[in-house]
Amino acid sequence: MKWIDYSSPNTIDEAISILSGKKGKARSLAGGTDLIVQMRAAPQRLNNPDIIVDIKSIPELNQVEFGSNGLTIGAAVPCYKIYQNAKIADAYPGLIDSASLIGGTQIQGRASLGGNLCNAAPSGDAIPTLIAHNVTCTIVGPKGERTVSAEDFCTAPGKTILDGDEILVSLHFPTPPKGFGARYMRFIPRNEMDIAVVGAGVSVIIDSSGKISNAKIALASVAPTPIVINDAVDALIGQEPTESVINNAGQIARNSIKPITDMRGTVEFRQQLSDVLTRRALNDAITRAKGGSINDH
Ligand SMILES: Cc1cc2nc3c(=O)[nH]c(=O)nc-3n(C[C@H](O)[C@H](O)[C@H](O)COP(=O)(O)OP(=O)(O)OC[C@H]3O[C@@H](n4cnc5c(N)ncnc54)[C@H](O)[C@@H]3O)c2cc1C
Repeated sequence: MKWIDYSSPNTIDEAISILSGKKGKARSLAGGTDLIVQMRAAPQRLNNPDIIVDIKSIPELNQVEFGSNGLTIGAAVPCYKIYQNAKIADAYPGLIDSASLIGGTQIQGRASLGGNLCNAAPSGDAIPTLIAHNVTCTIVGPKGERTVSAEDFCTAPGKTILDGDEILVSLHFPTPPKGFGARYMRFIPRNEMDIAVVGAGVSVIIDSSGKISNAKIALASVAPTPIVINDAVDALIGQEPTESVINNAGQIARNSIKPITDMRGTVEFRQQLSDVLTRRALNDAITRAKGGSINDH
């Protein structure tokens, strides 16, 4: 077995300097629930790292901060710290949908939203939720800091806009506007510990006249990366959230995607799920937007 070094820097600068020095041969580790499994199963996929850079000791990657313009969550904060935080659960119940269903209790003790996003699985359960909440990602590398929307972060299965010597530092969730509601749902054949056959993360804003003034619909497991269904959103904006309007959005989602058939589901099954989950997630997001709650956590 190959020798792999381990480092646990306490600052972003230190982490970047290690990553830059070993560009292409160093990997960041947050919870390790993807990384360790992949290194064991398919080391060639990760280009045989020489060193693991454990970023969990860096304060900025562990922050949970409510500010005047929203919530900033460090990229390495484990899921349990998110769903056990009453303030987050109150302000962002749609985020709790994802944080509380990734893996099981043990996985949630380590797994982070940042790791889910950086792993860039087409089925990543946090990614549609980050997109639906219009999250901005703060990235730091040797050339300094930059921000990218969660929507633009994943570029292909397992690939992101990150350079090998950059780290994702934090995720910024804007303050939910009045009338905002979000929801994430997925279909898996088992009750938990499974990969989404389809996942749907949606958000809506209901204005004072009861109409949908804005929305976002992101689907997982239907394309090489989680994708946004803009045509379905266009069909919602300016409409009252009636059954026929929601059904129409579900149909558009179904017809917009070009999924593959694999061992977990056929093209037809994924199309059907995209319709059903888009409709259900929209209805629940609308309930939340109107101040109601979903009895699901
Ligand atoms: C039993 C089991 C069940 C699971 N169930 C689910 C599930 O239901 N849904 C789901 O979506 N996933 C699931 N997963 C996958 C995994 O747990 C999640 O994707 C998790 O969110 C990954 O987070 P992590 O902190 O462990 O990432 P890590 O494994 O530490 O990292 C993942 C990848 O991202 C990179 N990385 C991590 N953080 C950063 C950073 N800040 N900057 C740059 N690069 C970074 C790493 O180098 C690595 O390539 C499961 C895994 C297991 C083992």
